[in-house]
Amino acid sequence: MEYVYFNAYGRYKGMDDQIVITGAGGFIAGALTRHFHNRGFTRIRAIDRKPLPEWYQRVEGVECLSMDLSEKENATRAVEGAVEVYNLAADMGGMGFIERFRVECLRSILINTHLIEAAWRAGARRYFFSSSACAYNTDLQKDPRSRALKESDAYPAMAERGYGWEKLISEMFCQEYWAERGLETHIARFHNIYGPHGTWFGGREKAPAAVCRKVIEAKDTGGMSIEIWGDGTQARSFCFIDDCIAGIDKIMHCDALIATPVNLGSCELISINDLVAMVEEIAGVKLRRTYDPDAPKGVAGRNSDNRFIREVLGWEPMTPLRTGMERTYEWIEQQYADRKAGKRVVQD
Ligand code: NAD
Repeated sequence: MEYVYFNAYGRYKGMDDQIVITGAGGFIAGALTRHFHNRGFTRIRAIDRKPLPEWYQRVEGVECLSMDLSEKENATRAVEGAVEVYNLAADMGGMGFIERFRVECLRSILINTHLIEAAWRAGARRYFFSSSACAYNTDLQKDPRSRALKESDAYPAMAERGYGWEKLISEMFCQEYWAERGLETHIARFHNIYGPHGTWFGGREKAPAAVCRKVIEAKDTGGMSIEIWGDGTQARSFCFIDDCIAGIDKIMHCDALIATPVNLGSCELISINDLVAMVEEIAGVKLRRTYDPDAPKGVAGRNSDNRFIREVLGWEPMTPLRTGMERTYEWIEQQYADRKAGKRVVQD
């Protein structure tokens, strides 16, 4: 008997169609793997270059492979028999990482280049690429009160050096594989995804996790102070992981979004100073603040304009930041305690 999966857009795939998810040892693709597994898909292949014991989440019953996808042969092996390919593998991190390691970020171009060609050759039906708000023109983000970014703001192009340019050119690969070769591609521009099971220490973590960890540390050590990168007026929106996963599934299966980049982010804008205040409130503390003006801080202001996604999907990320931060804080607090007690945590 053939099982079919329905979503808002109707029948679209059999439950035993081969799904391939790359970057699955990391944050978002780990959660995506769990999402499809929980929905009953039986043939999921999860891939990451990290050795299996270092994956953030391991989902039972899923085929897990440790392979470097910047190698062509591995990309070919990865997509064998694939009906759908979700490419979320990239060498990336928060501002501290992407401002310092531009070559590593740019080299992620190899992953998408090999993977999309392999997916096309393997006859995959759909291909998803995880782009970023860093692909937008940085000239439009010089003020903390800059207007929200709409999809057309990526051009004329002046993306974030390294990481943003890699995303922009990989988007273009996706668009041309559709235009010239008929491979159905879907592209989401993520805006700062956060939540449990993300990177929370070590240099690749992003602001929400870093702020939670610093507040927990300040409480635990009795230091009662927090260092903020820049002057704290930088403004961002942050999108909770559950919304991101729901959005990926919807975007991948929407005919109006073939080869068409779309924002996947929240439009709840907040400054880093106010984010710190929010986490202090969650933790029940008030900390002394110090500022490091020379630390990496990225653009001054960036928000997601959600008019297009609302129009095509009748949906947008809606988890309030406070709700998502409470869940994230709780998870990091437990991780912190486990680590202190010598137990294994997500990134060990
Ligand atoms: P992550 O670092 O947790 O996951 C990425 C994974 O890719 C890592 O586990 C890494 O080991 C793997 N990887 C790197 N190079 C690889 C290679 N050569 N072969 C195989 N695997 C490789 O990051 P994430 O936050 O889960 O991000 C997933 C995707 O979403 C990335 O493409 C990222 O650029 C994009 N994105 C994320 C955010 C965010 O806020 N987290 C924002 C914009 C875009």
